[in-house]
Amino acid sequence: MAYRHIQMPTDGDKIRMVQDKLQVPDNPIIGYIEGDGIGPDITRASLRVWNAAVEKAYGGRRRIHWCELYMGEKAAQLFDGDYFPQETKDTLKDIAVAIKGPLTTPVGEGYRSLNVALRQQLDLYACVRPVRYYQDVPSPLRHPEQVDVVVFRENTEDVYAGIEYESGSPENERLARFLRDELGERFFEDAGLGVKPISPFGSKRLVRKAIRYAIDQGRESVTLVHKGNIMKYTEGAFRTWGYEVAKEEFRDRIITEEELYNEYGGKQPEGKIVVKDRIADIIFQLLLLRPSEFDIIATMNLNGDYLSDALAAEVGGIGIAPGGNIGDEVAVFEATHGTAPKYANQDKVNPSSMLLSGVLMLEHMGWNEAADLINAAYPQVIGEKFVTYDFARQMQDAHVVSTSVFADTLIAKITGSASDLARLEQQRRETLENERKQREAQRVKDPLRAMKASGRRPMTAGHVMSAIKSVPNDASVEEAISRMGEQGISSILVEPDAQGVWGIMTQRDIVTKIVSANRSASRIKVNEIATRPLVTVSVDATLQAISMTMAENGIRRVVIEERGAPVGIVSETDLVEIVEEFGWGPEE
Ligand code: NAP
Repeated sequence: MAYRHIQMPTDGDKIRMVQDKLQVPDNPIIGYIEGDGIGPDITRASLRVWNAAVEKAYGGRRRIHWCELYMGEKAAQLFDGDYFPQETKDTLKDIAVAIKGPLTTPVGEGYRSLNVALRQQLDLYACVRPVRYYQDVPSPLRHPEQVDVVVFRENTEDVYAGIEYESGSPENERLARFLRDELGERFFEDAGLGVKPISPFGSKRLVRKAIRYAIDQGRESVTLVHKGNIMKYTEGAFRTWGYEVAKEEFRDRIITEEELYNEYGGKQPEGKIVVKDRIADIIFQLLLLRPSEFDIIATMNLNGDYLSDALAAEVGGIGIAPGGNIGDEVAVFEATHGTAPKYANQDKVNPSSMLLSGVLMLEHMGWNEAADLINAAYPQVIGEKFVTYDFARQMQDAHVVSTSVFADTLIAKITGSASDLARLEQQRRETLENERKQREAQRVKDPLRAMKASGRRPMTAGHVMSAIKSVPNDASVEEAISRMGEQGISSILVEPDAQGVWGIMTQRDIVTKIVSANRSASRIKVNEIATRPLVTVSVDATLQAISMTMAENGIRRVVIEERGAPVGIVSETDLVEIVEEFGWGPEE
């Protein structure tokens, strides 16, 4: 392809997408757009760090061949006022991977935003924001080290699709009339109107990408975040389609959270990722209080917007948050802050957002060794308090350094003690793995408590039941009482009698049929005082159905059965605990 200004490196090879898989040669051509304002400062510094990490990790065997692309003010100068030239679009499609600095949105040039134009024109549908804590970065959390989450935010749909009609406009009036007259909807006069499209296509491709990332990066879980309890046909449908794609396309690699508890007793099988979902409002609380339970989050545009910024604020603010916009053909990584024009060309600002977006890019390429070196060197430099002015403001006794000196210090760490750095990153991974095992042990020990603690309201008998404890039909009442005492339970199941029917003996049976009747606990068999047949409900019964069964039969506990056999028991106390913990009534 002949270009006016872009010079394609002649000694590099292009990255290719073959059958949905990125094929990265050892000498890939990667695009960079330096951006406006502070963009050139942070790009220059970051390029040096990425090159040093790749050189150190692969000893010259791999090297990136950079290709400058033009967008924003620099493009406008070179291309007669065109801020997003066709040849930049063509090259991005051709080389598949690029990274960019911040861009000024030109006023009155026909763009809502250059960034939006980039995402839309190249169909970069997944906005990926990794958020993890680097030691010593100022944070408002007590345990920010527990935050290691990647948000996959859908980029093209939702209320961001731009289908909005201004109050008083003729389009608004037409739509309002249609909604009122044809569909019987009611809303206040002159309301502005917006449409929230959420499609199976858009939802599924986003969730697919999140699950693939989780598999490639050896992550633990993918959480679908939605407000489906209220917006059933948009947010609720996103959840449904998310589970569909997980089960239809990744059945051998995923289990659902339901399956984790119901089939595996809380123990996550080796090599499987757990797919779960959470309501959008509770997730904010959970990400503050229990961030270690979340790993990859897949959600729609608006939820993702809020969540990415809230999470970034937990670990040092959006000033250092990296990001990427990824489609099926092209991925463009980017600094997430703006152009901060007042600091342009002063070699002053923090290059972290750009730098760490490059780490995400290296991971996207599968060059994890180089990414690890930067990840491990970064907290060391911050720990020694060599920081740019913005971090220095929040630290005591910091050494304030320029953008380029910050990069030099980082490079010195990367090139000086690489084996140490690799060990540090390994240690961090081991710590996270140990924490995961502890959570798992907790889940296995007390699945109900773990489920409640993780913000998931139990909905069915299977979620709340305790495993059954039983005694043989011919055991004495005394033996049964002693089993109940050991287990701390107030009833015990009695194994099938000659007719094959299960029974139950409760504390009340002991009081009414042994104590008040003055009979011998050691001579009477449980068989004689057990209640038969059992009142049972299926493992899928709702909590409401269970309580109705209890009320109808005047009993305080029901036995849960699956395929004709008892598998658990639910008591009144279990139900009351759920109400205490989560409240009751239609969800809001
Ligand atoms: P901004 O450029 O992000 O700057 C706001 C403030 O954030 C700065 O004054 C500075 O705070 C701090 N800051 C930003 N980047 C920093 C860095 N690398 N190191 C240290 N501090 C940093 O936001 P804005 O002023 O609202 O936007 C300016 C322009 O950027 C606008 O034209 C906007 O359209 C554009 N923009 C582009 C993108 C993008 O391309 N992705 C994103 C957002 C905005 P202090 O003054 O406190 O030091």
